[in-house]
Amino acid sequence: MAEAAYPVAIVGGGFSGAMLAARLAESGVASVLIHDNADAGLGVAYSTAFEGHLLNVRTGRMSAVDGRPDDFVAWLRANRPELADPIDFAPRKVYGDYVRDRLAMIEGTFPGRIERIVARAHAIDGTGIGLTDGRTIAADAVVLATGNPAPATASAEPGGRVVSDPWAPGALDLVGADDSILIVGTGLTMVDMIQSLLARGWKGRATALSRRGLVPRAHAATPDLPADLPADALTGPVSNRLAAARATTCASGWRGVMEAYRPITADLWAMADTDQRARMVRHLRPWWDVHRHRIAPRIAETLTGLIASRRLRVVAGRLGVVETDRDGVWAGWSPRGGGAQPPLTANWLIDCTGPAHSPATDPLTAPLLASGRARLDPLRLGLDLDPSGRVLDIKGVADPRLFVLGPPARAAFWETIAVPDIRKRIEAVVDALVSGKRPVG
Ligand SMILES: Cc1cc2nc3c(=O)[nH]c(=O)nc-3n(C[C@H](O)[C@H](O)[C@H](O)COP(=O)(O)OP(=O)(O)OC[C@H]3O[C@@H](n4cnc5c(N)ncnc54)[C@H](O)[C@@H]3O)c2cc1C
Repeated sequence: MAEAAYPVAIVGGGFSGAMLAARLAESGVASVLIHDNADAGLGVAYSTAFEGHLLNVRTGRMSAVDGRPDDFVAWLRANRPELADPIDFAPRKVYGDYVRDRLAMIEGTFPGRIERIVARAHAIDGTGIGLTDGRTIAADAVVLATGNPAPATASAEPGGRVVSDPWAPGALDLVGADDSILIVGTGLTMVDMIQSLLARGWKGRATALSRRGLVPRAHAATPDLPADLPADALTGPVSNRLAAARATTCASGWRGVMEAYRPITADLWAMADTDQRARMVRHLRPWWDVHRHRIAPRIAETLTGLIASRRLRVVAGRLGVVETDRDGVWAGWSPRGGGAQPPLTANWLIDCTGPAHSPATDPLTAPLLASGRARLDPLRLGLDLDPSGRVLDIKGVADPRLFVLGPPARAAFWETIAVPDIRKRIEAVVDALVSGKRPVG
């Protein structure tokens, strides 16, 4: 039996859930924000306490609110004026302060419109959301904003020398100043861990391994203007589009090409058929990710310096069997392109393979799939959604009261991970919800 009824229940209080609650409150709709810890608004991305972890999007583009582009810069001018340069990259911790502040400001302005519950949601059925504290919350509509799950260490045996969740508090505490490290994954999480290690005085050597050995590219010192994309970079077979995009990079530079694609990526994804999407995911995705999700120039300089001084080696290949003992790890691996190599050895293995989205095994969504109330998209990237983010059932019919927001909505929108994309999706969900909700306050 449900204890309380709300117009909207939001499961997950990271950036997506918290800022959705704020926009709903501004729009006159009350919501309950169900979050598994007391720090709503932060999530994995903005809960770092280390100011050396920088945003990977320029400060001037990080407004939390669609249609109010200066919101973050204005907040910085008032609270951290030394960081208010819109073309720079602010610390993620400071961004978390901004998001928390905005949530608190909205709660103060519209008392009672956002109720917070600190608990984990573990089940959704027709009538409500089951919480780990034993309560059941009833709501007219539910938004799943469950975000980036912790990585699943696939091939490594659990052991004291394997850091399987690098974001866990104290994850790097035992790493010694001269210890050697094997990092599995060469993306943004690897970059973050290197920054964290250096800040702790680490002086050792690291090897970073991923299938292709691709490392995120750097932003330029100043913002890039979007290139003029020719028509054949936007329509037709994927291979022709890629050729046209490559040709455009000669005239405009690759960053200009990425800037031109950025605002229309979700539309191109929506128009693509399953075969085109599959080709993108299978062949282009690793390249897309490192050019699209770029790092701040000064972080890139640090990495380049470490590589040049041979403290960081980046290798391409597939991780094999990992063995650990009390002194370290031995990891078998197959280099990309073949050949045999001795195992990679290190004092520590840090899993930086990033979030693992698996709605089929998530206790919250697996029962929805099993009962036919939801289905996976044809590529099994995530739950299949309609253009408003509503969950499609096994027959393809949208559930008018169940939405997905943020990274787990990737199957429908592809670009729904970074703030500039999520804040647009928030507006779409608000639009869909506001029309059908009873106003409060
Ligand atoms: C390390 C990192 C750095 C990033 N840097 C940037 C950046 O610089 N710029 C940018 O634009 N984007 C960045 N991103 C992208 C990031 O995904 C978004 O900016 C945004 O933080 C996503 O927020 P979210 O709320 O959707 O997910 P999350 O931040 O993952 O938050 C979801 C929250 O929901 C909680 N939760 C999950 N399941 C339940 C449940 N069943 N019950 C209750 N609570 C639950 C989780 O504990 C979590 O705190 C970064 C991502 C990461 C991981």
